[in-house]
Amino acid sequence: MKPNNPMGNPYRMSDIEEGRLSYTEDYFEVWYRWSLGKYLGKYLEGLKNGVILGRRCRVCGRIYVPPREVCQYCFRETDDWIDVGDVGRVNTAVVSYIQADRTRIDKPLIIAVIELEGASEGMGILHRLGDVDPEDVISRRIFGKKVKAVWKPPEERTGSINDILYFKLVEEV
Ligand SMILES: [Zn+2]
Repeated sequence: MKPNNPMGNPYRMSDIEEGRLSYTEDYFEVWYRWSLGKYLGKYLEGLKNGVILGRRCRVCGRIYVPPREVCQYCFRETDDWIDVGDVGRVNTAVVSYIQADRTRIDKPLIIAVIELEGASEGMGILHRLGDVDPEDVISRRIFGKKVKAVWKPPEERTGSINDILYFKLVEEV
């Protein structure tokens, strides 16, 4: 009898396909809970109510969206909740033919960073753009253009970033 290889015996897919190795396939359903904390929790509660909330630091005046507990410039706790509105400008955008689950799609998603008007410069939230010609993204004509949130009906909101369906253009490209 041939001794076992001390480094282990490599195998190939053909070993499984041709029955030399036993094989089983299973799927696991994993449930978990994640504590949002008071800042992200209040932000998501705001979305459920159709409001985008940020946090302001009274020392430097910076307004953070999504809200932050601590000002990154002043190293102190932020002070106030601010309704930053649901209108902003496209900072940058991409045309994606791959969804979040990595499956390919024929009709592309337009994913953008949107700087909300009521927040400080450089504060952007990531979301979808709707009713946009991909050519306007590729050509960059859409950059800097004004957009507004399109919300789910109130009874369908769950306290999620997806309570905003997408952002739509409110000015000509
Ligand atoms: Zn500050």
